[in-house]
Amino acid sequence: MEQLTVAAPSKHYPVFVGENALQQLPLLIQELTPAVTRILIITDDNVAPLYLGKVAALLSSETTVHEHILPHGDQEKSFANYIACQTKALESGLDRRSLIIALGGGMIGDLAGFVASTYMRGIRFIQVPTTLLAHDSAVGGKTGINHELGKNMIGAFHHPEAVIYPIECLRTLPVNEIRSGFAEVIKHALIKDEVFYRALHEEVRSLTEVGSGTLQKAIVTGIQIKADIVRQDERENGVRALLNFGHTLGHAIEAELGYGKWTHGDAVAAGMRFALRVGAAVYGIPLIEEKEMNAWLIELGYPPLPAGLEAERLLARMKKDKKSHRGTVQMVLLPRIGRAELLEVPDPLLKRELQSFLA
Ligand code: NAD
Ligand code: ZN
Repeated sequence: MEQLTVAAPSKHYPVFVGENALQQLPLLIQELTPAVTRILIITDDNVAPLYLGKVAALLSSETTVHEHILPHGDQEKSFANYIACQTKALESGLDRRSLIIALGGGMIGDLAGFVASTYMRGIRFIQVPTTLLAHDSAVGGKTGINHELGKNMIGAFHHPEAVIYPIECLRTLPVNEIRSGFAEVIKHALIKDEVFYRALHEEVRSLTEVGSGTLQKAIVTGIQIKADIVRQDERENGVRALLNFGHTLGHAIEAELGYGKWTHGDAVAAGMRFALRVGAAVYGIPLIEEKEMNAWLIELGYPPLPAGLEAERLLARMKKDKKSHRGTVQMVLLPRIGRAELLEVPDPLLKRELQSFLA
C-alpha cells in the first residue's frame, strides 16, 4: 500500500492506495477530532452488494452506522438524490460531528461530497473510490451534481478528510469502466510527465489484463500529478484548468451523443486525440505523436468516432464550455508531451481541424 498527501492550501489530507487500504478506515476515523458521532455511508446499487458489508463491518460498534443506497448511473447525480440524501441524514440524526463515507465511483463521490459540503453548513466526509476514474474525481475537493441545463453545474469545493482507495475493488469493474478511468491516467501523463507517458505506452497494451502492480503504480502517479496541480491552484484560477485536456471536445461529444451513450473516458480519449491534432497545427509540429497515440488507443479498445457527428454542432457546444472566453474556444494544448497550456483557438482553425478529424 502507498500513502500520499494532498497538500491543498485550505487542507492537507492523506490518500491510501492499495490492496487492503480499507484497513486504514477504522484507524483514520478513530483519530478524527472531534470524535465521530454517527456515520452515513452513501453508495450505489452496484457497489452495495459487493462492498458495503465489508466496509460496514470495519466500523467500530461504538458508532451508529446508517446506509443510503442510490440507483447507479450518472443521471442519478441529481437534485432528487441530493435531497434524498439530506433527508436520510436528517432522519438518521447526523449532527455536525458526524461523518459521511462516499463508497463508489465518481458519481457517488461527487454527490455524497456535495451532500457533506452543505449538510449543516458542512460536515466531514471520507472518499472510498471503487472505480479507476475515481482516482481523479476523489482527489481535489470538487463536489457537485448535474442540472438539466448542464453537467456538474451545481456544486462546492469541499475536501475529504482522507481518500482510501482499495484497488482490489477494480477487479469487479467492467472493462469499459476500466478503459474510461484509464483515459484520465493517460491525460495526467500527457499534460505533466513525459517519462510516465512513455512508461504507460510501453507497459500497458491491454486493459483486460493490467497487472495490479502496474495499475497501482499508474494510479499513484496519476494522483500525485493531480495533487500537485491542486496544491498550486486549489480553486481553478490557473494551472488546474490544464486538467481539462481532452475535455473540450470530450464534453461536446458526450452531450451530442446523449449522456451515458459513451463513457466519459471514451469521450475524453477522442478529445485528447483531437487536442493533439489542434496542437500540431498551432505549434507547427508533426503529427507523429497523434498517429502513435491513435494506434495505442485503438489497441486498448477505445472506440472510433461514431458516424453522424457534425462539426458545426460540436463547435457550438464547445463554445458553451465553462472555459470559453468571450465566445472563443479555449483549449488545453501540448507544445510537447508532458507540457500543457491553455490557449484561445481561432474559429477558422478549429473548424478546419474538426472537419478533418471527423472525416
Ligand atoms: P460511476 O460512479 O457512475 O461508476 C461507473 C459504474 O461502475 C457505475 O455503474 C457503478 O455502479 C459501477 N461500479 C463502481 N464501482 C464498481 C466496482 N468496484 N465494481 C463493479 N461496478 C462498480 O462513474 P465514474 O466513472 O467512477 O465517475 C464518473 C463521475 O465522476 C462523473 O459524474 C464525473 O462528472 C465525475 N468526475 C468528477 C471529478 C471531480 O473532480 N470531482 C473528476 C472527474 C470526473
Ligand atoms: Zn474527466
